[in-house]
Amino acid sequence: TLSDRLTTVFTSLRGKGRLSEEDINTTAREIRLALLEADVALPVVRDFIAHVKERARGAEVSKALNPAQQFIKIVNEELVQILGGESRELSFSKTPPTVIMLAGLQGSGKTTLAGKLGKWLASERDTPLLVAADLQRPNAVTQLQVVGERAEIPVFAPEPGNGVGDPVEVARESVEQARRNNHNVVIIDTAGRLGVDEEMMQQAADIRDAVQPDEILFVVDAMIGQDAVNTAQSFLDGVGYDAVALTKLDGDARGGAALSIRHITGKPIMFASTGEKLEDFDAFHPDRMASRILDMGDMLTLIEQAQRTFEESEVEKMASTLASDDDFTLDDFLEQMSMIRKLGPINSLLGMMPGMGQMRDQISNVDDADLDRITAVIRSMTPAERRNPKIINGSRRLRIANGSGTQVSDVNGLVTRFFEAQKMMRQMKNGGMPGMPGMPGS
Ligand code: GDP
Ligand code: MG
Repeated sequence: TLSDRLTTVFTSLRGKGRLSEEDINTTAREIRLALLEADVALPVVRDFIAHVKERARGAEVSKALNPAQQFIKIVNEELVQILGGESRELSFSKTPPTVIMLAGLQGSGKTTLAGKLGKWLASERDTPLLVAADLQRPNAVTQLQVVGERAEIPVFAPEPGNGVGDPVEVARESVEQARRNNHNVVIIDTAGRLGVDEEMMQQAADIRDAVQPDEILFVVDAMIGQDAVNTAQSFLDGVGYDAVALTKLDGDARGGAALSIRHITGKPIMFASTGEKLEDFDAFHPDRMASRILDMGDMLTLIEQAQRTFEESEVEKMASTLASDDDFTLDDFLEQMSMIRKLGPINSLLGMMPGMGQMRDQISNVDDADLDRITAVIRSMTPAERRNPKIINGSRRLRIANGSGTQVSDVNGLVTRFFEAQKMMRQMKNGGMPGMPGMPGS
C-alpha cells in the first residue's frame, strides 16, 4: 500500500528539518502512483501533483511533523479542497415541488438511488414522489415500484395498459400530480443505456426541458474507474447536470473517479452510495473520500495526533528540563524562548504553573526580531560557550558579535538575561514546584 511505500521513504527522511527538492520529488512520485492506482485520470494527477509540489516548496518548516508527513498533510488538504471542501446541499425550489432528475448509464444505480434519496428526504420531513420515467426496459417501472414500496415513498408511473408511454409526458404529469398531492419534492428516474448514445441523451434532454429540474444529478458507478471521466463529460455535454451522486463505493474502487470528475467537470459531488440497501446512502464527505483515495487513514490520523500532541509535548519537554539535574544552558534558554513564542495562547497556561509566571513575563517581552537576534548570537557561540557561558570573556564577546552581525552590547544583554534565567531555574529546581506536570513527585 501507499502507507508502506511512504513509510520506507520517510524512514530515510526522518530527522530532516525541511522539505528538500529531492524529498518533494520522491514523495510526489509515490503519491502519483497511489493516485493512478486509485483510478484518478492522468491529466488530473499531473495537475494535482504540480500544484501540490508548488505548495510543498513554499511550506513552512513544521516542528510537529517530519517532511513527509508534512507533504501528506498538504496532499490531503488539497484533495479535500478539490473534492469540494464542504459538502454541498440540495437546493430547494421556492415554489414546490422541487424537481430532481437522475441521469446516468444503465446500471449506475439511478433507480436504487431514487429510493434512497426519497427515504433520506422523508426522514427530513420532506414528502417526495418518485417518478418512473424510464420506460425503455420492460421491468424498469416495476423495479421503481418495488423500491418505492420498500422506502415507503409513493411512485408515479404510467397507467398499465396504456402502451409504452412517453417518458416526457410522464415526467410532466408527475409534477402536476405532486402539486395536487402536496409532494414537495419530485425525483425523476430516467432511462440509461450501457454506453453513451444519442437517443438516450436526447430523451434525457427532452425530460429536462419539459420539467426544468432544480437539480439534475448525474449518477455514476465508482467501479467504472477511468471510464467515469468520459461518461461524466458526455452527460455534461448532452444533458448537463448540477451535481454528482457516486454509487457502489462499497466495492473495492478507491474512488479516484470522484477526484477526476470533480476536477474535470467542476461539478460538486453531493451524495455517496455504499451498498444495495436503502440505508447505504449519505451526503458526500470530501474528507472521507480524500483519505480513501490516499488509502492512508492511519497515517492521516497519526499526523493529526502528532500536531495535537506537539504543543503538550513541548510543555512537557520544558518541564523535564526543569526536572533534570543538568544545569540550564544557553541551548535550553534558546529552545524555551522560541517555544514560548510559538505556543502563543498557551503562554497563559504558564502563568498558572507555580513559579512560571515570572519566566513567562520575562520571555513574553521578546518579539520576533529579538528572537532572531538572540538566535543568531547563540548560534555564533561554540558548544562549550553555550554549555558554560561563564567563559565568555571580552574577546569572545567581540567574536560572537561579529559572527552574528550584532553589537557587543547585544551579546552582553543576552548573557545577562541568560544568567538571570539560569538563576531562576536553579531556584525553581531547589524549591521544587508542586503540581508541575512531568516533575518528579507531582
Ligand atoms: P440503474 O440502471 O441506473 O437504475 O441502476 P439500478 O438502480 O438498477 O442499480 C443497478 C444495480 O446496482 C442493482 O443491482 C443495484 O442493487 C446495484 N446498486 C446500486 N447502488 C449500489 C451501491 O451503492 N452498492 C452496490 N453494491 N450496489 C448498488
Ligand atoms: Mg433504473
